Order: sequence, then C-alpha cells, then structure tokens
Amino acid sequence: MSTLQGKTALVTGASRGIGRATALALARAGAHVLAHYGRSTQEAESLVAEIRANGGRADAISADLATPQGAATLAKEVQAIIGERLDVLVLNAGISKAARLADYTVEDFDTLFATNVRGPFFLVQQLLPVLGEGSNITVISSAVARTVVGKPGVDNPSILAYASTKGAIETLVKNWAAILGPRGIRVNAVAPGVIDTDMSNFTKTEAGREITLGMQALKRLGKAEDVADVVAFMASEGARWITGASIPVDGGSKL
Ligand code: NAD
Repeated sequence: MSTLQGKTALVTGASRGIGRATALALARAGAHVLAHYGRSTQEAESLVAEIRANGGRADAISADLATPQGAATLAKEVQAIIGERLDVLVLNAGISKAARLADYTVEDFDTLFATNVRGPFFLVQQLLPVLGEGSNITVISSAVARTVVGKPGVDNPSILAYASTKGAIETLVKNWAAILGPRGIRVNAVAPGVIDTDMSNFTKTEAGREITLGMQALKRLGKAEDVADVVAFMASEGARWITGASIPVDGGSKL
C-alpha cells in the first residue's frame, strides 16, 4: 500500500520501540522518512539501512529534545533535508518514570516535562514554516492521560508525573488542531495502552504481564507495530476528516 508516496515524514525517537515501527510503517507506505534519534546512532543508522534496503528513502538526524535548543536544532536540520514541505510529523520521543509520590525530585519532574511536552511544543512551533495544507501531526500520547493505572497508594510507585505530561500533550493536540485547522493541517493523538518496548520493562516480569493482561479485553501484550499501523493510517488521506482526536490503541484497556 503506497498511500504516502512522494510525502515527507519526520518521526521523533525513531531508533527503537514505537518510533522505529512507525518509521518502518511510513516508509512501507512510500514516505521519505526522517528518523530522529537522541544518542543511539547505531540503531538509527541500521533503521535507515533497513528502509533503504527495502527500496525506501530515509535519513537519520540526531538532537536531544530535552534541551532548550533541541527542537530548533532538529527543525533546522529537517528543513535542510526536505526543503519546503513536511507532510507528516510524528511526535513520539518520550521518557517515563515510576516512583513513590514522596520520592519524586524537581529534576525528575522538569526532565519529564522538558522531553514529553516542551520538546514537542517547540518542535511544532519551529516546523510551522514547512507544515501546510494537507500536512498532519500525530502525537504519541498514552492511555494514562485519562486512566489511573497500577495500584494507587502512597507506598506504591506510580507514574503520575509521566501521566500528567500525557494529559498536557492531549490538551495541546486539541489547541493545535483548532489553531492549525484553518491552514488545512490535522493534529491528532494516538493513545497506546501497555506496549512491549524498553519503556514498559515491567511487562518482562510474570506479575507485570499478568496485571497488563488483566486490564485488557484482548489478552496479549501490545506490540509497537499495533501502534505504528494506526499512526500510518492517521497520516494517510483515509484519516482526512479526523482532527483534534485521541485514538485509543490499547486492546480494550480498562473497559
Ligand atoms: P522507548 O523508550 O523504546 O522509546 C523512546 C524513544 O524516545 C527512544 O528512541 C529515545 O531515544 C527517544 N527519546 C527519549 N528522550 C529523548 C530525548 N531527550 N531526545 C531525543 N530522543 C529521546 O519507548 P516507547 O514505548 O517506544 O515510547 C515511545 C512513545 O510511546 C513515548 O512517547 C511513550 O510515552 C509512548 N507510550 C509508550 C507506551 C508503552 O507501554 N511502551 C504506552 C503508551 C505510550
């Protein structure tokens, strides 16, 4: 299916996990993929090599999106490669942290918000000159933007600071969709449940796996590809009338 033939796409945090699967899905659909990464040069280069070996177009670009200048640096490099037009932007890069309420530090909080909210906010701002009629943005949010997961209690670790970054990004999605809609730019979130990646290391234990399956109607662990296929659809013409939405991709979690 070549629904994105001739289109350009930037995926942040593409070296592994959901970002990597998304970069591959967009390349399969025909897009020229810019695979952004933080530090994992080798993984990013192997992704680019895989896309090219399959006949696709890809380039790797590095930038630390947690730094104040990260978004502007990345936007500049993107424009140097693609020129005037970015059709698809996938804001995927993110970090998580689990801790007891009493153990969170100001630095934890600031790093989570810098990476998961400030980076995407300023990347959209900096890329505005190359986003136009027909461009679209998909943000990787999370089911935890709307649902409390785990076992709440002051003695138990939780991901509440991470969850609040995803709440913030979903608010941005609605505002971006409203502001950019008149320019013909769509903006949506995709909200995965638990997906088997490096981030969700608790799924590697029997107990974590059981808790995850217990929450879901479809009794298996979610895979990065389960999310990537939905992102590829959201980026395609088939999703032309969807904007400002958050699409759950969670195997029916906490129904
Ligand atoms: P992952 O840890 O495998 O991937 C995260 C990616 O973000 C990596 O490529 C990493 O290098 C990049 N990144 C992090 N900080 C960065 C920085 N400062 N600068 C540049 N790149 C940076 O995890 P994943 O599960 O693939 O996560 C991808 C997205 O999906 C995240 O936004 C995450 O919050 C979201 N998500 C994941 C799950 C899950 O269960 N795995 C569930 C819901 C949402």
